[in-house]
Amino acid sequence: MGPPDALGHFGSFGGRFVPESLVRACVELEQAFGSAWQDPRFHESLGEILRSYGGRPTPVTECHRLSERLGVRVLLKREDLAHTGSHKLNNVIGQSLLAARMGKTRLIAETGAGQHGVATATAAALMGMSCVVYMGEVDMARQALNVFRMELLGAEVTAVCSGSRTLKDAVNEALRDWVANLDDTHYCLGSVMGPHPYPWMVREFQRVLGDEAREQCRELLGGADPDWVVACVGGGSNAAGTFAGFASTSARLVGVEAAGGAAMTHGLPGVVHGMRSYLLQDEAGQISEAESISAGLDYPGIGPEHAHLADIGRAVYDQATDAEVLSAFTLLAQTEGIIPALEPAHALAWVVRNAGTTIASGQSVLVTLSGRGDKDVAQVRDLLSGDVGSGQQVAVDPAGVPER
Ligand SMILES: *Cc1c(COP(=O)(O)O)cnc(C)c1O
Repeated sequence: MGPPDALGHFGSFGGRFVPESLVRACVELEQAFGSAWQDPRFHESLGEILRSYGGRPTPVTECHRLSERLGVRVLLKREDLAHTGSHKLNNVIGQSLLAARMGKTRLIAETGAGQHGVATATAAALMGMSCVVYMGEVDMARQALNVFRMELLGAEVTAVCSGSRTLKDAVNEALRDWVANLDDTHYCLGSVMGPHPYPWMVREFQRVLGDEAREQCRELLGGADPDWVVACVGGGSNAAGTFAGFASTSARLVGVEAAGGAAMTHGLPGVVHGMRSYLLQDEAGQISEAESISAGLDYPGIGPEHAHLADIGRAVYDQATDAEVLSAFTLLAQTEGIIPALEPAHALAWVVRNAGTTIASGQSVLVTLSGRGDKDVAQVRDLLSGDVGSGQQVAVDPAGVPER
């Protein structure tokens, strides 16, 4: 997966649909990233922070018991073991280091579920930068603990009260702040979306996980690549970083969206947040809300490069339902002793559903475990039954290959 064209297009997707006032900011960022990414000293500093602070490289774990259960060989790329518990740190460390190189002293970010806000607040604390996170009023109420986490890390969380008071409104607010404060501020965008150069830059910052995984898989598979590479897709950054490592191999690439936020399956091409991609929209072309049990996948669009990869047939995109996700979540916990975040449980659910059919018996599958599930256990307890606290077994059958 190479760079987009000079205007940020991946095929007919992407681009830079921003007001005149933002063009300068995007061009300045594009040039700064382009030069940093060719500078061995930048890579050295970034690699050093990701190692000594971020906990990279994360391992690839072969899941023996789960593999036996499913009849296919399952390998997990363990982003749950990175600092702050997900792949998000790769992107925010990259962007904050770039911001410092550009002489910026202030980071701003949008957040929905709060995870990207927490990651950005973490990077800002590490770099000694000030930090403002825009968050919809509705999301702030739903994710009160993450609001506190960001404040604990020294960030200021600003409530967004416009529109539906959720993630898409927070993006708009962050873009407005950026225009007004270009001199000292970098907008640390959270996924492979937004205007050029973000989809490209964020994919490159996440590429480290795919590159590591390819090496690690070759070691485990006797020099071969996995037959399948599967990752969940919200905006699509962990999937893009994963796919970047395997695009040149013969591995089949699969992105899995939440059934309630499946922009690729149910969306239509349109323009939002500075890019052209697939978007969930109503009949009037208004952006609709995504909704699933996993707040981290509730973005109503998908990164433009994914739209392109689907277009050219290099990757396929499918969805997983909430019930399948809960069952996969429990299955991994009970067969491997790993509690995944609900987001990558979507990728696992796809593997569970397709093992032995689309994924032939004995084939190998790499799944990106994009994050750990600590943040989700209380919600899962409430979803499964009220009885978990009293020591009763959860109501989901972990062997449960869900109904088709
Ligand atoms: C935020 C998040 C996602 C979704 O974001 P992408 O940009 O699609 O990767 C997935 N998994 C975890 C653990 C997350 O925190």
